[in-house]
Parts: sequence; structure tokens; C-alpha cells
Amino acid sequence: PRAIDRIAAGEVVERPASAVKELVENALDAGATRIDVAIREGGRALIRVEDDGCGIRAGELPLALARHATSKTDGADLLDIRSFGFRGEALASLAAVARLTLTSRVLGEDGAALAAEGGRLGEVRPAAITRGTVVEVRDLFFATPARLKFLRGERAEAMAVADVVRRLAMAEPFVAFTLRDLTEGERLVLRLDAEVPDLQDPREALRRRLRAVLGRGFSEGAVPLDAEREGHHLTGWAGLPAEARGNATAQHVFVNGRPVRDKLLLGALRAGYMDVLASGRHPMAALFLDCDPRLVDVNVHPAKAEVRFRDPDLVRGLVVGGLRRALAPARP
Ligand code: ADP
Ligand code: MG
Repeated sequence: PRAIDRIAAGEVVERPASAVKELVENALDAGATRIDVAIREGGRALIRVEDDGCGIRAGELPLALARHATSKTDGADLLDIRSFGFRGEALASLAAVARLTLTSRVLGEDGAALAAEGGRLGEVRPAAITRGTVVEVRDLFFATPARLKFLRGERAEAMAVADVVRRLAMAEPFVAFTLRDLTEGERLVLRLDAEVPDLQDPREALRRRLRAVLGRGFSEGAVPLDAEREGHHLTGWAGLPAEARGNATAQHVFVNGRPVRDKLLLGALRAGYMDVLASGRHPMAALFLDCDPRLVDVNVHPAKAEVRFRDPDLVRGLVVGGLRRALAPARP
């Protein structure tokens, strides 16, 4: 393993929570209907993500751990973020900076496992697994001690992991999630059962999932949003001004089902509340913007938290206008 690979890996994986994000996104890409996450010591000692998705063929396990081998950034698919993965780097990065075991099984074939340590791949071996994929990451950053120094305390890292799982789960109501902390015995941190589709109201499953993640206050004090402009569709819920809080941690924005921390969207959210909310107060909100993947570029930041819209003014107008209309009854 070259030093450059280890350095590059730090761009994709900067802490346990970013590793968990990549692994859960992979499970979602694989069509999983249940995803079980376990960590030990804030994720530093162990991260395990188990899914019931499509699996990886034994012969393709080495490819899955190879840098760029699976990157979807070749040409037409560049802007397609319906699928989470787009660089083919997460597993290679983790294999470079930790001890990783990838165990997987494709339906109708035999299960197999491949281990890697500090970038060196072992041999593909037969393994017992019913279905799907299990990724185990032990001793994160053991191969890059300088990185270890940037990690915060065990509790803070564990909380960041829980945040990431919650945020990813918010947009995936039909996927069941669990998060367990194995540091002392076994503690169930989070359990979200798969929601059942409601044929009368397609938004109901999403609302129930958001409520399960954000608490009862969410849907009781929120107005539904629904707006559309030139192929961009905005849906979600926005908190009533009276319920606004002193911090912005309850604001969640998703683009094509993916949690983002996008300045434009968060700014538009603020602007939409402008004349109904005292400054320094932050409304609770869960906004889902869906558009043709070609209208948004997610290849802006390695952690993929920011996006770039082809027509930022249109998106801003859609969000501000959608919010104003939804909040109109709350206006003084
Ligand atoms: P990317 O997701 O950008 O393609 P990753 O390094 O995250 O890159 O994953 C590499 C490849 O390994 C994926 O493209 C996919 O083919 C396979 N893979 C990874 N995780 C899973 C999983 N949980 N289930 C099925 N296939 C997976
Ligand atoms: Mg990926």
C-alpha cells in the first residue's frame, strides 16, 4: 500500500461516522431492506454493517476493495445520485487504514469472505453467510496514527455515528435499521422497523419514519409542503414558527433521498421563514427535494454533503415559495 492511498483515504473517511455513512449507503445501493449497524468504542475498535442486499460475487470481492475499480464516475452516470456510490473509494479507503473483512453472498451462490489489513488484501475464502453482506472494520486508522489524534472522545464519536444512521434512515422508511453499541455488553441504541406502505397516502410512511426518528413533536407541530417547478419537486414538513428552537440541529434536507448539508437549501429555508420567525430561532424541518439527477451535481465535496444545482435560483425560489405558501396560515 502506498502512502498516497492512505492519505487519500482520509478524504473519504475522516472518522467512524463517515465510515458508517459509506457502508450504510452501500447497503442501500444494494437494495437492502434491513441494515444492522454495530460499533464498539465509538467505532474505533469496531464498525460492523450487515445487510440483506444483493451481495457481491466471490470473484468480485477483490474488485470491491480496489480503488476506483467500481467508480461510476465515467461519463454519463457522473451526475446520477439516485445511487449513493459514485467514486468506488470507500471500501478501498477503509481497507487502507483499518483491518477490514468483507463477507458476502449472492442468492444461489456460495458465500465468501475477503480480509484486508492496512491495504494488503488476503485470499478469498468460503464463508458461512445466509444472504447479503457483512462489512467489519476493526481498529480504524491503526495504519495512520496521525488520523487517530483527530478523533474526539468515544462518546462524541458514538453520537456522530447515531446521527448518521438516523439521517440516512429518515429518507428510507421501507428499510429497517438497528444500531447497537457493543462497548459494554450490548446496548440497542436505535431500532427503526420498516414502515408499511400506505396506499391511501404515499407520504404517510415517510411521516411515520420521520416521527420515529425525530420524536412526536415533529409531525404535530409541522405543516406539509408540496411544490413543483420545472422538474424539481419539493416535499416534506416544516415546523410552525412557534415551535422553533434555539439551534439548527432539527433541520434536515435531502436531495434525491440523500441527506445533505447544503448552504443553498438551508439558506432558502431561513428565507422562507423570514417574516414569521424571530432571528436566532430555527424551525424544525425535513425537506425532500427530488429532481432529475442531471440537474444536480454531487461531486463537489468528498463527503458529498454539499451539492451544486444547475439552476440554483430556481431551487431557491421553489423552496422559499413552497415554504411561504405552506406557512401562510401562520403569518401574522
Ligand atoms: P462505490 O459505492 O462508490 O461504488 P465502494 O468502495 O463504496 O464504492 O464500494 C465498492 C463496490 O463494492 C460497490 O460498487 C459495490 O459493487 C460493492 N459493494 C460494496 N458494499 C456492498 C454491499 N453492502 N452490498 C453489495 N455490494 C456492495
Ligand atoms: Mg459506496
